[in-house]
Amino acid sequence: MTVESRQSIVWEYAPAPEATDHLRLAERYGLFIDGAFCEPAEPRYEPTINPAKEEPIAEIAWAGPRDVERAIEVARAAQPRWAALPARERGKYLFRIARLIQERSRELAVCETLDGGKPLRESRDVDIPLAAAHFFHYAGWADKLRYGVNAREVAPLGVVGQIVPWNFPLLMAAWKLAPALACGNTAILKPAETTPLTALLLAEICQEAELPDGVVSILPGDGAVGAALVRSPGLDKIAFTGSTAVGRDIQTALAGRGVELTLELGGKSANIVFEDAALDQAVEGIVNGIFFNQGHVCCAGSRLLIQESVMDEVIAKLWARMGRLRIGDPLDKNTDVGAINSAEQLERIETLVAAGEEEGAVRRSVSCDLPERGYWFAPTLFTDVSPAHRIAVEEIFGPVVSVLSFRTQAEAIEKANNSKYGLAAGIWTDKGAKAFEVANALRAGVVWQNTYNHFDPTAAFGGYKESGFGREGGPAGLRPYLRVVR
Ligand code: NAD
Repeated sequence: MTVESRQSIVWEYAPAPEATDHLRLAERYGLFIDGAFCEPAEPRYEPTINPAKEEPIAEIAWAGPRDVERAIEVARAAQPRWAALPARERGKYLFRIARLIQERSRELAVCETLDGGKPLRESRDVDIPLAAAHFFHYAGWADKLRYGVNAREVAPLGVVGQIVPWNFPLLMAAWKLAPALACGNTAILKPAETTPLTALLLAEICQEAELPDGVVSILPGDGAVGAALVRSPGLDKIAFTGSTAVGRDIQTALAGRGVELTLELGGKSANIVFEDAALDQAVEGIVNGIFFNQGHVCCAGSRLLIQESVMDEVIAKLWARMGRLRIGDPLDKNTDVGAINSAEQLERIETLVAAGEEEGAVRRSVSCDLPERGYWFAPTLFTDVSPAHRIAVEEIFGPVVSVLSFRTQAEAIEKANNSKYGLAAGIWTDKGAKAFEVANALRAGVVWQNTYNHFDPTAAFGGYKESGFGREGGPAGLRPYLRVVR
């Protein structure tokens, strides 16, 4: 073969859509209370929409205040029996749930992608395996709880209400339910309004695992259902993952009520690239940090801090790499960036990007053919950003990265910490000592070195400042679901 003919090869991918015929969704889903699917007390059904096509997938029952009340009563009644089970028996139920998630992983991955718009590659390789891993992890803890809390004697809190967002629907449900159940609590989970489906499949899995009735209830609906749950008497704890604004509202509503609370909120995390970093590797980490799940990630590396001496080189490499991202059908196994989760979220991204341009930052968006229907936003890079610009301060929650420069290590730390948030950070350097020094100086709950968006059920996750309080994952994730008796 001559050199010319080699060069003439067009490296295009053939479409590789994942099959959907194995997914058997019902046309309608009820609420899941007392181990069974049921009609809401006041009938209300809303469609859940595929954001890549703007097409309805199924009708979902939305809970009302009477359903919330009933779920709490049922959970209260079930809790003493659940807590009284030998701990290893509780663990067995969690192991069963974990294994059933694995068995149904293909179906769950397709469902997550259809309902939320994220690339199948991510739901298949990240969301679903990690959800199973969380149940496995906490299954193992069920009979070792005291070793997770400094050998103290512990007891469950009782009945917990758990409210999750739409960006990692099943994974967030697993982060919440697995430690709560392992500790002997019963739980009421409220999935987000745009992504209730995998939580309802998880309800089926709880049935298959023969989890005792009432241990888990699932109440889909909008913020009003979450607000009703928060304001209901009879709960011992609320665990919330979502926006800082709603977190603040919940904290206010619970003030003085003696209800335990953990908040996992928003972020504007700094991804810091030093001049001594392996730059090609760093560029991959930047891409993963901000374009993974369309940037709908609380810990997304949305503030990119680059040392001035390598600024031009990193931007050139990053821009070239962004041009190779494949955007489109989330069910295609080659897709890197899928659909934006909802019309509201798309509008929020567009508003903040427009503000970036108005305030004088320089915008570059990848030019690509976006599908005609659905919600899409092309990966975007902002340079000439000042630390006061809205795009450097506010969480965009989309595929948009704002680049800032720094000259010295001290300036990098100062700029990284110059945020009301404190969820995560990334450090790219080949000097181990520098990485530790910087990590120690950062006010961020998670700091990654030479990697980004790396999650593991054994590692604690949570924030500082307006990113919330409390930790999920690992032994630290047990503490918010336990009372220390002695
Ligand atoms: P959101 O706060 O609007 O909604 C989150 C959940 O709260 C949804 O289930 C929603 O129905 C419910 N809710 C809304 N209003 C409520 C109220 N008044 N009372 C009780 N519940 C209410 O957030 P979102 O837009 O769904 O999710 C995006 C946000 O979540 C981002 O800010 C992101 O950073 C954050 N998030 C944080 C983490 C973390 O671990 N720190 C993880 C994922 C997402």
